[in-house]
Amino acid sequence: MILNSDKMPVLFIGHGNPMNAIETNDFTKKWTEIGQTIPKPSAIICISAHWETAGTKVTAMRFPKTIHDFGGFPPALFAVNYPAKGNPELAKSIIENIDNFNLQLDTVAWGLDHGTWSILKHMYPNADIPVIQISLNKNQLPSYHYELAKQLKYLRSKSVLILASGNLVHNLRMVDWRNYENEFDWAIEANNKIKSFISDTDHNSLINFQKQGKSFELAIPTAEHFLPLLYILALQDKKDELAFFNDKTIMGSLSMTSFILE
Ligand code: ZN
Repeated sequence: MILNSDKMPVLFIGHGNPMNAIETNDFTKKWTEIGQTIPKPSAIICISAHWETAGTKVTAMRFPKTIHDFGGFPPALFAVNYPAKGNPELAKSIIENIDNFNLQLDTVAWGLDHGTWSILKHMYPNADIPVIQISLNKNQLPSYHYELAKQLKYLRSKSVLILASGNLVHNLRMVDWRNYENEFDWAIEANNKIKSFISDTDHNSLINFQKQGKSFELAIPTAEHFLPLLYILALQDKKDELAFFNDKTIMGSLSMTSFILE
């Protein structure tokens, strides 16, 4: 059952290094704080950078598995289990409510990837809220994601928390593994421009991120960590207040910059 309630906030969270799942640092402390301060949702929908598919899929298993979609990390990270339930009824109702996008239920392939559980483990450590993931359709233009997400807006008034997990600036090839505090000039420039576009509600410039010049080309070499942002922008309400948090660039080419609209 979905209850009508006050409008839920929406969140874009930069997830960064998978190790954040099992560490306590300034970023994860903020995730914990948000989990404790926003209204408790009846369900969570996560759009993660780490689930790209042909077509758009919605997880619809009752018990989604914890997926360890990375390599080269310590056993403690592979041992993480996030046993949140799914919500197949909600998944079905989303598909029925969205026109023209041919969403499909996924009952076997996916579960919860680290883009989702590394954050939720801090926000909701008891894993007592059902979680659904919606995949990123890898064959579509940025505008597809924005238009699709607009149709999820009704869920905000049904006590569903929509969370997008990516990174605004994400160039893994150029990461400076030796210097955590490093911030490349182009990364700062791109991050600041993205923040200005968000603050100015200039969604068009962000949908057209491929036309924003050199710093964007370096910041967004592949789209998957950036596209979750478009889902949150599409869910913005005129009355929402915007607040950035974890606004920091690390290891040269990654920004953890995150925001809430509430
Ligand atoms: Zn990632």
